[in-house]
Amino acid sequence: MPFQTEDELRRFLRLCLDPGPGRPTRSPETLARVLPAWMADDLAQHAPALAALRAELARAEAAVTAARARFAEGLKVWIAQETSTDEAPAEQPSPPQSATQPRGECPACGLVYAMSRRGVLGFHHGMTPSGFSTGSRCDGVGLPPYQAVGA
Ligand SMILES: [Zn+2]
Repeated sequence: MPFQTEDELRRFLRLCLDPGPGRPTRSPETLARVLPAWMADDLAQHAPALAALRAELARAEAAVTAARARFAEGLKVWIAQETSTDEAPAEQPSPPQSATQPRGECPACGLVYAMSRRGVLGFHHGMTPSGFSTGSRCDGVGLPPYQAVGA
């Protein structure tokens, strides 16, 4: 390795920070950023604690790079979507109907739907507790509408 002793390496790094009269100085932050790999290897020989800090920095930077890539990918996918599938229900709770058609509250799912001429709830899909269509016939179809007590 180019620097045989700890003191030789230290002297050289001091010169990196302050090369002398008329030459620009460097901050330790800049030096840490531009430190060549071979010099970092030398440093690791003489200062294992600094090598551990540098390895930690490399891991953190890799994590940031990976997180930035994941965010960019998620952003790209989100932008490409027309609508969010989480928020757009698969179907409207109340299908279109004439204004004169009687409506009633389903005793099973609690939503208001058109009723058939027999006065029972017409066909509709059931709803999960979180408000998504179950995709199959609601248990309330064919039952009389819910009547609030005292209504
Ligand atoms: Zn229902």
